[in-house]
Amino acid sequence: MSDDIDEPPDSNGADRTAEPFTYNGGRVDPGESANIRYGISETYLGDPVRIPVTVINGEHPGPTVFLSAAAHGDELNGIEVVREVAHDWDHSNLHGTLICLPVMNVHGFLAQERYLPIYDRDLNRSFPGREGSTSARRMAHQIFTNFIEPCDIGLDFHTSTRGRTNMLHVRANMENQKVARVAKAFSSNVIIAGEGPSGTLRREATAVGIPTITIEMGEAHRFQRQLIDRALTGVASVLAEFGLHPESSVHWPGWRTIIDDDNEKTWIRADAGGIVDMKRGRSELVKEGEVICVITNPFKEEEDIVTVEAPFTGLIVGVLENPVVYPGNPLCHLVGLTPDTLTALERERTMEHAGSDRRISESALE
Ligand SMILES: [Zn+2]
Repeated sequence: MSDDIDEPPDSNGADRTAEPFTYNGGRVDPGESANIRYGISETYLGDPVRIPVTVINGEHPGPTVFLSAAAHGDELNGIEVVREVAHDWDHSNLHGTLICLPVMNVHGFLAQERYLPIYDRDLNRSFPGREGSTSARRMAHQIFTNFIEPCDIGLDFHTSTRGRTNMLHVRANMENQKVARVAKAFSSNVIIAGEGPSGTLRREATAVGIPTITIEMGEAHRFQRQLIDRALTGVASVLAEFGLHPESSVHWPGWRTIIDDDNEKTWIRADAGGIVDMKRGRSELVKEGEVICVITNPFKEEEDIVTVEAPFTGLIVGVLENPVVYPGNPLCHLVGLTPDTLTALERERTMEHAGSDRRISESALE
């Protein structure tokens, strides 16, 4: 099924008929949708652990797209993105099928923790999973075989790790043309290129021919409305690009930078332990030499103040929120920009301050 997406959107399935979506023990026919609680494991009490899945099978043929969230149980923004796409959007003219997985890591979600509480396993390093293996890999296997493998495209939503935040950006293997098409269609300002660690959903799904991207947005334990709205724009744009919503159009974010190994980028780390007075925020532009933050001791003693400056001009993609650090802890994820991107971004920020055009400045409103 993954060859469909090479076709231009307007030719998707023109001469085909829509097919039922089937999974282990279930079937959703064209024109129908289903809310499913699908068992992927069992608790200590022997009760089923079930993930919520919504399948929306359009009347018209087209690609099958999965939207997944909370592979890390405390990363909540994506849950709301997936739920709104599944339950608030009008899919009466859907050309294709949507598989919506708002909470993959049920154990972690219940505990509001990143990892599966059982031995602290990372579900997002356990894909594609394996039968007869660890509990994390068995769960991953259930999710992967039933709801990921039948898809043509995937969007997996994450946030920054607890205590930090990041601006909305896409992570994608831009050397894979099919993945690059999905990544660009999502219309984020920033794409960080790379295939991702082994065992992540996006890397393993891509490896079996389902081009998949990760969307990083904001912080854990929150619903952040502006970021959620921005991500919904991205989803609508992807559905337009691949013809699932033929009446919609692809969105251009105003400017875009693809961060690869050639770009300057660094996680600036603390060289002192202490209390952090962060001067700059997520998605801000900083000039070389400008102060990003100040680290102090409890007495604010002058001789112990450490000032952290930007080593180069760049965009703050990720930043510390919880204002305490040990030496070596990350303070801020700074990426360099090409002169063209820098100019476009500065122009956008100027216009935004002048209030002359709100439309192109969504990312800056985060
Ligand atoms: Zn995550």
